[in-house]
Amino acid sequence: EELLDLRHELDGIKVRGLDVPKPVVTWPQMSLSMSTLNVLRNLGYDKPTPIQSQAIPTIEAGRDVISVAKTGSGKTLAFGIPVLRHILDQRELGSADGPIALIMAPTRELAVQIQRELKPFLKAHQLKAACCYGGVPIKDNIADVKRGGNHLMVATPGRLIDLMASNSGRVLNLKRVTYVVLDEADRMFDMGFEPQVMKVLQSVRPDRQTVLFSATFPQKMESLAKKALVKPIEILVGGRS
Ligand code: ADP
Ligand code: MG
Repeated sequence: EELLDLRHELDGIKVRGLDVPKPVVTWPQMSLSMSTLNVLRNLGYDKPTPIQSQAIPTIEAGRDVISVAKTGSGKTLAFGIPVLRHILDQRELGSADGPIALIMAPTRELAVQIQRELKPFLKAHQLKAACCYGGVPIKDNIADVKRGGNHLMVATPGRLIDLMASNSGRVLNLKRVTYVVLDEADRMFDMGFEPQVMKVLQSVRPDRQTVLFSATFPQKMESLAKKALVKPIEILVGGRS
């Protein structure tokens, strides 16, 4: 349908969209910070995975992305490495408080896992993240968010809504958010979180960058993607299900 332009099919990656940035297959060619390169070296991650090769340059180019690849293909760093530059570029602008990047994940376990995986990268850049999910007292989250200084927020949609509502919206301000990740979007959809996700997105500036990562991309998720993303580039590893 419509404007899709098939650019290449390489290493089992299928990419659809307009003006697709070229994949980059080594870390040094990605123009990452020295700190990021050091962390990657310390972790022993010799080269980007296929999804990272295509998604990182595409996200760094400012494009919205729908990225579908099976579990274990390295999706966290595919959206997580671009978070770093995004925050570093934005943080000197103005003094308003609140996170600059927001990652939504369906469950507490996944939110914790994302935060854990990004931790060495955030630390190397002196960046801070808040991680908020249900099942713990909201007052702990409120204290963390109110303390301020969190550049990144990793959260489940339900807890985000609760935080946004608390104290008439004076606790969590998403005005500064310019980069949003919907991780495990198929599971968020299956768990019925679409209304919460849409509500959160309505509180974020419309000119934000939005990226969606998922293990599968069922047809019914298409309408969510259409509402939430602008001219997305689709990156599919190993076919679409
Ligand atoms: P997904 O979100 O696609 O299920 P993850 O992002 O959780 O996958 O990554 C799966 C595993 O691969 C993690 O243990 C992660 O640390 C590791 N990993 C990620 N990127 C690389 C890489 N470029 N090289 C080697 N291992 C990697
Ligand atoms: Mg994942």
